[in-house]
Amino acid sequence: MAQTAPVTTVLPDEAATLQYSARLAKYLEGGQVIFLHGSLGAGKTTFCRGILQALGHQGNVKSPTYTLVEPYQLEKLTVYHFDLYRLVDPEELEFMGIRDYFNGQSLCLLEWPEQGQGYLPEPDLDIHLTYLDAQRQIVIQAGTAAGRAITDAIRDDEK
Ligand code: ADP
Ligand code: MG
Repeated sequence: MAQTAPVTTVLPDEAATLQYSARLAKYLEGGQVIFLHGSLGAGKTTFCRGILQALGHQGNVKSPTYTLVEPYQLEKLTVYHFDLYRLVDPEELEFMGIRDYFNGQSLCLLEWPEQGQGYLPEPDLDIHLTYLDAQRQIVIQAGTAAGRAITDAIRDDEK
């Protein structure tokens, strides 16, 4: 796929992160795979919470650090939220039946995807969150045609 320019936005505070991710959620119908990169505290889980709540989840969202994955059966779709921070050997993903999660129907959000390298599909969206002093910066890069439709839509929103 031809590379398109990433979408870059400054998120001044947590509310901005939640608002931005909720806006992105409008374009998620299921089946997409989203990688979330960034150091501890960069806002990956906050971003997932914004998506989950926009899709109808009420209540808490915690990083599934020990269980690796948390399922959410929402009204319109199933979401799998992964946190691979504590994954020791990516082969463990085989044992947990990782392929069943990437079924083309469910939305998959992955924190620390680099820990699962070699065992994960190509992401539709590759998201990097970084510290900008006390704020955060988000960079969204499309990895597939489906992802590109989303980055194009976000870019249009911002015009
Ligand atoms: P991660 O999952 O990347 O480790 P979390 O989402 O758990 O990060 O934590 C992020 C922390 O940063 C939370 O304390 C949250 O309130 C805060 N935060 C989230 N987004 C922003 C932002 N745009 N600007 C400043 N602080 C933020
Ligand atoms: Mg987290």
